[in-house]
Amino acid sequence: MVERLILPGSTVGILGGGQLGRMMAIEAKKMGYDVICLDPDPDSPCGQVADEQIVSPLNDLDAAARLARRSDVVVYEFENIDVLLVQELEKNYYLPQGSKILSIAQDRIKEKRELQKAGFPVVPFQVISDRHDLEKGVIQLGYPCVLKTSRGGYDGKGQLVLKGLVDMKRAQEMLQSQDMEWVLEKMINFTHEASAIVARNQRGDIRVYPVTENIHRDNILFMSIVPPRIGLKMEREVARIGGEIAQTFGLIGLLAIEFFVTPEGLLINEIAPRPHNSGHYTWDACYISQFEQIIRAVCGLNLGNTELMTPVVMVNILGKDLAPVLKELPRFPDNVKLHLYGKRVAQDAKRKMGHLTFKTNQPEKAMAWVETFFPL
Ligand code: ADP
Ligand code: MG
Repeated sequence: MVERLILPGSTVGILGGGQLGRMMAIEAKKMGYDVICLDPDPDSPCGQVADEQIVSPLNDLDAAARLARRSDVVVYEFENIDVLLVQELEKNYYLPQGSKILSIAQDRIKEKRELQKAGFPVVPFQVISDRHDLEKGVIQLGYPCVLKTSRGGYDGKGQLVLKGLVDMKRAQEMLQSQDMEWVLEKMINFTHEASAIVARNQRGDIRVYPVTENIHRDNILFMSIVPPRIGLKMEREVARIGGEIAQTFGLIGLLAIEFFVTPEGLLINEIAPRPHNSGHYTWDACYISQFEQIIRAVCGLNLGNTELMTPVVMVNILGKDLAPVLKELPRFPDNVKLHLYGKRVAQDAKRKMGHLTFKTNQPEKAMAWVETFFPL
């Protein structure tokens, strides 16, 4: 692919209209680009801030081609977009992120195999197609283990933890519910979760964001803390592996890599070729945010400084949290930044509605406030 320089005044097309697209669009608009997005929800978070939105299902090739025709560069903002559609678009339009990394990241089996092949440490796993594989897999990996859909999972959806024989029935029902391959993973007794977000442009320049420590609740990201409390050695290792993966896969754009930190070393959980929830802190706390960075990367600009300006704590606002947050907002600490994604209805208690970032030299204090405000 020949590198193109896409200057402000040009149009960035975004496949997907969620909060990641919204934050990318705001940064792109700030830089003087026009933005058009594609999403089935006529009031999508990204559509609300973009110059224009094409309202259509994301797997509609005609609609996607209409978006691409009107755009100088097309980016995807989530990884469950149809690879075949991206491959079709690539033939005629400029999609620098490409379909290859997408096809790897959206299939847990392919993802693990490709990472393993390149020598990166992944969680021990077995590929499961049927009941027989499941029984074998459980013997291989032992309890506890986690059964995951190979495709389409997010925020812990499509996962089942097997603690013992009693969970086998539910696991078998899950297998029967969808005709696809599954992954059985060893349950990792990690000390921490951490992630690296890496940017790479077509010239091969690489920038790695400060590593985050991630705390999940119910398998959904709850809080990210930067700098992480995982020790400098681990932190460097997370950043190093992140950079190497970006290089190995020939990334253009952004890649997030989620890790489990264990006393024996790091294991990669999964990767995502787009801005990542654990990188939302970069908008307030880094010199150049992940959202501006992906625009820079796909537009052929030089990559921006990823330096951390201040320690930071980020906490997600889920559907169930929105009303309490709004009620307490007039009394929030003065170092809290509020981000809401413009989702009008919190129909799902677990839906990501926004986030808060605390820029602070006393992260422990911010974490204590968060724990009190968002009790378990
Ligand atoms: P998603 O695509 O939904 O983010 P993940 O595979 O990242 O799925 O799982 C979500 C969270 O569930 C992880 O961040 C981690 O907290 C927990 N989890 C998933 N797999 C494992 C595992 N093999 N061992 C321990 N915890 C896990
Ligand atoms: Mg994850």
